[in-house]
Amino acid sequence: MSEKCLFCSVARGEIPAEIVVERDDAIAFRDISPKAPSHLLVIPRRHVPSLDEADDATELGSLLRLAAEVARDEGLAESGYRVVINTNEDGGQTVPHLHLHILGGRRMTWPPG
Ligand code: AMP
Ligand code: ZN
Repeated sequence: MSEKCLFCSVARGEIPAEIVVERDDAIAFRDISPKAPSHLLVIPRRHVPSLDEADDATELGSLLRLAAEVARDEGLAESGYRVVINTNEDGGQTVPHLHLHILGGRRMTWPPG
């Protein structure tokens, strides 16, 4: 855990969030500033700064699996959705705690901006 990390604070329950799934090792919650009709975030409870520093393949696999389950529970599985991991500065990462965006409920464009 990192004392001043925003998403560590969310995971500890110190900052209110609309949590949709709670697991021992991960949580999923709604993005505070949604970029699509459905916009959720999946994070590990432990502090991992970015995908670049994620060294546990099992953990990454279970985060990805959880993202798919959250998308299905949100009713996005058939219509489709996008999972995004912005990484470091050029990737557009603004919160330095690994998170998977799940975006759906509208047609996504490609390429991303
Ligand atoms: P990124 O830019 O990839 O680092 O994504 C960070 C995301 O966290 C953005 O989509 C923000 O809207 C979202 N966010 C920031 N603060 C909160 C919060 N307190 N609760 C939920 N989502 C948040
Ligand atoms: Zn953190």
